[in-house]
Amino acid sequence: MTIAPPALSPRAAAPAKLSDRELQWHVTSAEAECVRAPIDPDEWFPIASDPAKAAWQASRALALCTGCAVRAECLELALRHWRGVGRHGVWGGTLESERDALRPQWLAGADVRQLLRADPGEPPRMREAAAGGASTAAG
Ligand code: SF4
Repeated sequence: MTIAPPALSPRAAAPAKLSDRELQWHVTSAEAECVRAPIDPDEWFPIASDPAKAAWQASRALALCTGCAVRAECLELALRHWRGVGRHGVWGGTLESERDALRPQWLAGADVRQLLRADPGEPPRMREAAAGGASTAAG
């Protein structure tokens, strides 16, 4: 039996306009870097509570997300399911602590693409680590 993909909204559609099913389809499709280049599942779930240590533990997963075409869809899905699976591990190139910090803006209506653009390529955690501090902002 073949399961047909959902009739997708245009790729240019804001992730907030997509259904959960459409978002799930994107993040499990060949567009997703983690599907094309799988790594050890443990690397998606850092155990450290300190954000800098967690980023180090999940560094390979975070690096995959950086170049992922469906990063925004992935972050949208995680934020929608914050009280469940979306809270844990790496989603959309962010750690739990980073999504926790982003969530108020998202709840206030910010587009996840806007939230990711606030990070011009270099995760804030890296910039602050270089400056000697820690961060909980998105990456
Ligand atoms: S953003 Fe990261 S976790 Fe999400 S689909 Fe892409 S590679 Fe996978």
